[in-house]
Amino acid sequence: MKPIYPGSADAAGRPATLGVLGGGQLGRMFVHAAQRLGYFTAVLEPDTESPAGLVSHHHIQTDYCDPAGLAQLADLCQAVTTEFENVPAQALHALAQTRPVAPGAAVVGIAQNRIEEKAHFVACADLSGVTCAPYAVIETAVELQAAQDERTDLLPGILKTARLGYDGKGQVRVRNAAELAAAWAELGSVACVLEKMLPLTAECSVLVARGWDGQVVSFAPQRNVHVDGILAVTHAYEGNMPPALATRARDAAVAIAQQLSYVGVLCVEFFMVEDGSEHGSLVVNEMAPRPHNSGHYTLDACDVSQFDLQVHAMAGLPLPQPRQHSPAIMLNLLGDVWLDASGQRREPDWAAVLRLPGTHLHLYGKLHARAGRKMGHLTITGPDVASVTAVAQRAVALLGLPGYDD
Ligand code: ATP
Ligand code: MG
Repeated sequence: MKPIYPGSADAAGRPATLGVLGGGQLGRMFVHAAQRLGYFTAVLEPDTESPAGLVSHHHIQTDYCDPAGLAQLADLCQAVTTEFENVPAQALHALAQTRPVAPGAAVVGIAQNRIEEKAHFVACADLSGVTCAPYAVIETAVELQAAQDERTDLLPGILKTARLGYDGKGQVRVRNAAELAAAWAELGSVACVLEKMLPLTAECSVLVARGWDGQVVSFAPQRNVHVDGILAVTHAYEGNMPPALATRARDAAVAIAQQLSYVGVLCVEFFMVEDGSEHGSLVVNEMAPRPHNSGHYTLDACDVSQFDLQVHAMAGLPLPQPRQHSPAIMLNLLGDVWLDASGQRREPDWAAVLRLPGTHLHLYGKLHARAGRKMGHLTITGPDVASVTAVAQRAVALLGLPGYDD
């Protein structure tokens, strides 16, 4: 891969341009990072008012699989990345015929399918040192019956669709064999995995970036709190989890990225599970082939963000090892923050929030607030964990946010 240098131009004098499939907030923050370095950007996204489309030099407004749209993206850009997990693999395949695409269609395909994803985790368990929750694949009525008869060790469990799940969608918790059968029917009898319900003490994730040349850098693990299946709070500071588990999570995420020959930014999510030992054990849950909501704090608390690394990786630039310079807490801002008890729109008290020291507000330019919709996030940085925690608690109270724990 020949590096695409920012500020360079091709033979026809056209500026170095990086492209992204998808126009959500992750695409927007990618565009910001690419533009800061001096690249031009192009976004392919059907929505007229998308967070990334609104800030990009070029917005190709077609369906993700539209051949003309993809051809235009390939023509404008020297390399292409993606910002949402369920991007059609055929679009990535089409682009890869003429342009470097990072991450590639094959690895995105693995991450899009829980069955393949878990098979990958199992295959590299020896190297990564972690395994996933006990599970069974259920794709047919025969496999359902087998799970009901022979895998009672997986109950109570969670039935998850193999494809298209996010933010806890496409999941049903089941206590017994009868509930399992009902849940599979409720999910449309599509391919699923039944996963044993584990006694979680906490959750964490690790962001890794890997280049075309195999160079790897990573961030320390961040601890995540979910509410109703959606990320609510990320705690990013030393001491956010037992150091032994943090080291294991980071090593495991790097091994998982290496085994995939991954190019780009990868987020690997882990469970911390009670097992009677002092710190508990670590279980790998899933991976996202892109920057992740739990890594947004890197924008304000690190010298290099997850989006900077996404740009560097796809363009073939060196990957600097990121350094976190401040402890940080990130609070997700869902549409609920803009809605009062009767569902009417209200303006949050930004003056009070922004008066708090070390607050960094990021709104994604979404024009309509809906309950559960990711509208932005607030990162709090400060000199030490105690002051960051105190400010976060004040912001939580001012904004009426759920799910805060320290
Ligand atoms: P994401 O938005 O992260 O992609 P998702 O819809 O893909 O979410 P998961 O991450 O698999 O779903 O699960 C959502 C949440 O449900 C987890 O963060 C965790 O809190 C809980 N959960 C999932 N699997 C298990 C399990 N086996 N045991 C206990 N809790 C679980
Ligand atoms: Mg998850």
